[in-house]
Amino acid sequence: ESPLAKMNPRDEQLLSDYYEKLVKISEDLERTDEPGRNEDNGEAPRLQKPAENTLETVEATDADRGIDPKKVEFLFRRINEMTAAEMRVELKEIRKSPHGSTKDLRHRLRQYYRKEFALIQQKRDETRSKMRNRRRFRYLVAIDIEATCEAETNDINYPHETIELPAVLVDCATFTIIDKFRTYVRPEINPKISDFCSQLCHISQPDLDAAPLFPEAWARLVEWMTRWGMLGADKEATFAVVTDGPNDVQHFLQRSFLQYNMKIPHEFRHFINVKKIFENRVERLIKGDGKTSIAKMCEKLSIEMEGTAHEGIMDAINVAKIACALVLHKNETLFVNQRIVRMRNRPLCLPPPATAVEIKALNEQISHHRGNQKPNSSNAAANRLPFALRPVTREDFNMEAYWDCESCDERE
Ligand code: AMP
Ligand code: MG
Repeated sequence: ESPLAKMNPRDEQLLSDYYEKLVKISEDLERTDEPGRNEDNGEAPRLQKPAENTLETVEATDADRGIDPKKVEFLFRRINEMTAAEMRVELKEIRKSPHGSTKDLRHRLRQYYRKEFALIQQKRDETRSKMRNRRRFRYLVAIDIEATCEAETNDINYPHETIELPAVLVDCATFTIIDKFRTYVRPEINPKISDFCSQLCHISQPDLDAAPLFPEAWARLVEWMTRWGMLGADKEATFAVVTDGPNDVQHFLQRSFLQYNMKIPHEFRHFINVKKIFENRVERLIKGDGKTSIAKMCEKLSIEMEGTAHEGIMDAINVAKIACALVLHKNETLFVNQRIVRMRNRPLCLPPPATAVEIKALNEQISHHRGNQKPNSSNAAANRLPFALRPVTREDFNMEAYWDCESCDERE
């Protein structure tokens, strides 16, 4: 008879003990699956379980234990660029099956080195001080996109275009703002800015008429970042993009990149959403009282808010200040917590207008929705784009798993 059958299901303590045992057994099992990882119990390294399509089993040797952290880091970062032949060599070296498609090989290597990399990181973390996040990135780049819009019409088909592209540079040695970049961007689908948008974003028609199109505006941002050593051939400074919410990257930037058939740079496919950190660690932000989330975060963190809401450069400065205050005054660790990933079933272009049926379904969803997070047309529009929003967990962050890009192979 199984222990579960004997148990009173309402006895939570028993159930949780039992669960704990199960977890421990499965962890032990997992550990014995890995070669050379039995140092703790003093046993001789066990035989590695043969991978499904391996032809021979190989005994793990002492050499497996002392894997060189530098090599692991190097390979972990290089896996995306390796050829099938190179990957086979590495797989043989780590006694994993060298058979299967290029995708299988990459997947196998990535899984192996991800674990190794995590172990190295873990060891390193143990010796690191509380100020760990001060060293993770050299700079933070706060961005805040403003886009064309109409008064809140909830139009899922509205083709938002970037009209302001600001970036604020934070030095992570001191957590102070050290430089700013800003350009307006000329929209092409709706070249005339609506009165509503003009008032909301403090942007005039002449501002836009004099501005470059998105490709040129982006090139200027890249040039600015290159001068700071963050991009380009001589890049030597690590950085993370910081935003207030997911829309800047997942919705507005994605749309602009797709509109001009440009590749979204990998450095911009993951970011630190300060609003998410604030909500998890400080307090929930309740919508609907007319105040922006930036204004509320500034208030709660006792930061003097710069400028007025929805002016891109001012929003970006405030986002940067919020990030700094979270570290300096709240002792928070800033980590990459969201990313965008390519959906293989969606074509790499702006989606066609939603059909009447889709719009009807969405409106029904909105009117039937209960709870705090109402679906709205902006989310729905973003959800039709080829890159979808995904969370990055602390573990993903420590392993740098957010750099993985499953969809790259087919583009390059
Ligand atoms: P934000 O980051 O809050 O400044 O907003 C970015 C963009 O979202 C703006 O440039 C607008 O395109 C759009 N947006 C923000 N708030 C509103 C609003 N109340 N009504 C319509 N669109 C808005
Ligand atoms: Mg803004």
